[in-house]
Amino acid sequence: MKALVIGAGIGGMSAAAALKQQGIECDIFEAVKEIKPVGAALSIWSNGVKCMNHLGMGSIMDELGGPMHNMAYHDGLTGSVMTQFSLAPLVDAVGERPCPVSRADLQSQMIDWWGRDKVQFGKRIEKVEQSDTAVTAYFTDGTSATGDFMIAADGTHSVVRADVIGYQTERRYADYVNWNGLVEIDENIAPADQWTTFVGEGKRVSIMPIANDRFYFFFDVPLPKGLAEDRSTVVADLTRYFAGWAEPVQKLIAAINPETTNRIEIHDIEPFDTLVKGNIALLGDAAHSTTPDIGQGGCSALEDAVVLGQCFADQFGMKGKTVAGVLAALQQYEEERRFRVKDLVLKARKRCDVTHGKDMQETQAWYDELRHETGENIIAGLRNTIIGGPLA
Ligand code: FAD
Repeated sequence: MKALVIGAGIGGMSAAAALKQQGIECDIFEAVKEIKPVGAALSIWSNGVKCMNHLGMGSIMDELGGPMHNMAYHDGLTGSVMTQFSLAPLVDAVGERPCPVSRADLQSQMIDWWGRDKVQFGKRIEKVEQSDTAVTAYFTDGTSATGDFMIAADGTHSVVRADVIGYQTERRYADYVNWNGLVEIDENIAPADQWTTFVGEGKRVSIMPIANDRFYFFFDVPLPKGLAEDRSTVVADLTRYFAGWAEPVQKLIAAINPETTNRIEIHDIEPFDTLVKGNIALLGDAAHSTTPDIGQGGCSALEDAVVLGQCFADQFGMKGKTVAGVLAALQQYEEERRFRVKDLVLKARKRCDVTHGKDMQETQAWYDELRHETGENIIAGLRNTIIGGPLA
């Protein structure tokens, strides 16, 4: 029994780990020769950390996870605290901590955990063919590979997606630009154990600690798509967009390294119901592409992988390691995931609009709420998202 896993991102690597737990051999094919992640870091929330533990990669979280014990919102312009609270009640309620991690380190360690020499780099899938009993991937270098089934974890620009769902999807611009990167921890910018966010004017600046004394930072600004801005203008652009903002924000702008700061126009994809066609399943961003506004894109790829493994355990238990077992496992995977992932994409979209001033009255009402927030409501929201996962 062999699976073809397309993509060596968080989705592909976690899917392979889950399938290996079920005794399924996996060949992993990655388009690029060297992985260069699009973002500097990720917050892997407790649901994602539980998945990493379940898949046997918990030690990666222990090593890379930053000490994020508290959370605070500040008024971006005055710098005054709107709300500040401990995340301990969340950790107590869900039984696991959140781990902000360097994205490059996470991906690299997941690949090392699997065995870097066992991932086939430079293999970009361009076409797929399936029969009742097998699936073949054709790569741009003229080679091909055949397996019993395929997990397509080839990201938001997935080549395999259209084959599975029957049409080409459009990416939807979420009307804001995100700059992100890493800086050394400086407590004049924010406390070293806190997720600190400055908000105002529909913009936000966020800072969270990752391992090895670094802050992950990001700036969000509502902007039209396609502006002529890049790394060479990043300091001038952020200085202009955040003119008049509080001192810590100015210190952060002064500290960033433009060479390692990413500028990303944020998109998502309208959720769809079909995640599986016969012996091909979509997983991760290929299956559900979300804005990062609730920090759940990578976490839900990890959830997909865990559920995938559980479905194979169930179906192989009933039908044995057979073609029928594979088809039933993938069908079960689709059933168990499609509502959860749709919900996460739409929840993130809603959060995105409020955070980024789509209706400034609504955003102002949120700012007012934050000034009365004890932490209880925010923790309840985070908890609900987390416990919706497969290992709640
Ligand atoms: P990807 O990471 O995109 O990996 C896909 C892999 O497939 C890549 O390595 C790619 O090279 C390869 N590939 C692509 N095409 C082909 C092909 N044709 N053939 C073979 N291989 C191919 N998520 C969180 O959980 N928490 C966060 O805090 C968070 N913050 C984010 C911040 C930003 C700014 C962004 C943009 C996203 C954020 N996310 C976050 C989302 C998260 O990054 C993604 O959901 C996650 O990386 C998806 O993993 P994936 O493996 O499905 O896709």
